[in-house]
Amino acid sequence: MPLLRSWVDSANAPDHPFPLNNLPCGVFSTEGEDPRCGVAIGDHVLDVSALEEEGLLPLPGAPYLDVPFWNDLMEAGPEVWAALRARLTVLLTEGAKDRAKVAPHLVPLAQVELHLPFLVSEYTDFYAGQNHAFNVGSMFRGPENALPPNWLHIPIGYNGRASSVVVSGTPVRRPWGQVKGPDHVVPAFQPSRRFDIELEMGAIVGTPSQGPVTVAEADAMIFGYVLLNDWSARDIQGWEYQPLGPFQSKATATTISPWIVTRAALAPFRTSTPAREVPLLPHLQEPGPMLYDIALEVGLTPEAGVETIIARTTYAEMYYSAAQALAHHTSSGCPMNTGDLLGSGTISGPTKDSRGSLLELSWGGKEPIAITGGTRSFIEDGDTLTLRGKAQGDGYTIGFGTCTGTLLPALKDPYSRT
Ligand code: MN
Repeated sequence: MPLLRSWVDSANAPDHPFPLNNLPCGVFSTEGEDPRCGVAIGDHVLDVSALEEEGLLPLPGAPYLDVPFWNDLMEAGPEVWAALRARLTVLLTEGAKDRAKVAPHLVPLAQVELHLPFLVSEYTDFYAGQNHAFNVGSMFRGPENALPPNWLHIPIGYNGRASSVVVSGTPVRRPWGQVKGPDHVVPAFQPSRRFDIELEMGAIVGTPSQGPVTVAEADAMIFGYVLLNDWSARDIQGWEYQPLGPFQSKATATTISPWIVTRAALAPFRTSTPAREVPLLPHLQEPGPMLYDIALEVGLTPEAGVETIIARTTYAEMYYSAAQALAHHTSSGCPMNTGDLLGSGTISGPTKDSRGSLLELSWGGKEPIAITGGTRSFIEDGDTLTLRGKAQGDGYTIGFGTCTGTLLPALKDPYSRT
C-alpha cells in the first residue's frame, strides 16, 4: 500500500511517523482542559472526542472518546475499530469534503501533554526473544545450557504490575533493593548498581476473552502495539528470581510510548516468526504471519551529553509473536481483559550491536560499551534512555513516538518521611 495523502500537509512527508496510513491512538491534554482521546496526524493531534461530540464520528455504540483512555473503544471490538479507521481516513484524505469541519479540531503536537493512552488492567511480561534468552542463559549457565528446557515449547512469562506502567517522559527513580551480599551469606539492602533497560514491544488486548483462545483468535483480540521499556534491576533480580521469577527487580517502572499503533496500521508489515527449531504443539502453532517487521533502536544520552545509539534491531527477531504469547496465556482458561498489556520480552538481534539490554551489550558489565564521552556497563544517574521504532512502507513510515525516561538518583533514605 502506498502513502495515503492527507490534506494535513505535514503527514505526507515520507519519513513522518504519523501519516494517514498510521492514525495512532493517544490521550492528550491542552492547558486548562481535561485529558481526552486523540489521534496523531502529521504534526497534529486530532481531537476525536470533539469530532464524536459534533456527530462527525457516528460509530455504533458510541460515545467512546470523551474519556482519558481508549478502553471503551477497544472493548467495542474489531468492527468498531475498523469503522473508526475508515471514517477518519475519509475525513482526513486529501480533498475531503468535511475538511472545514475537521480542521478546527487539529491541535499542534507541540502544544499538548500526552498521557497513558489506556487504563492498564494487567501487565504480563514474556521472554520470547531467542537471542536475548540465549545471551542471558549463556552468562548465567553457560552456552550449553543457555535455553531452559521449556523455552522452545512455550513463551515463558511472568505476571508483572499494571500499577508500575508509566507513559514516555516520566522520570524513573533508581530503586533500592535486596542484593546478594559481598560475603554471599548476609544480603545487603542498597540502591541498585546494575540498573538496566529492556527493549520490548507491548501488545494491548482490545477484546476480552474467557477460556482458551487459538492463536488466530488471539491475534484478532489485539488492538495495537506500543514500544515498551521494561526497566530492570539486574542485581536485585539475580538474588530474588529463583524459583518464582522476577519480582521487585521489575516493579519500579515500565515505560510505554504514548501512541497505540493499531494492528490495522501494521498489517502491511506482517511477517512470520523464524523457522522452528523444534515443532510447537498444535495449539501454539502460528496459522499465518503474526509478527511485524519494525525497526527498533535504543539511544543513551548522559546528563548534559549527546546521544549515542547503543543498539539497533527489529521486532521480526522474536521467536514467538504476541498472538502466540496471548494464546499461551489463555491456555489454562485465564481470562483476559480489555487493557491487558503483554510485553514481548527483550528484543535482541544476533550481533553485538543489536542487543536490547545493557546486560547483554556489556556482557554482564565485563565489556563496557563506548558511548560519546565515556563508557557504560549499566545506566548511570541522569542518563536518558530512548526507544524508537518504525515500520518502513512504500513512501511512508509508521512511527510510535518515542519511549523515553531519565534515571533519577536513588533517594538517600528510601524510608525517610520528611
Ligand atoms: Mn522484560
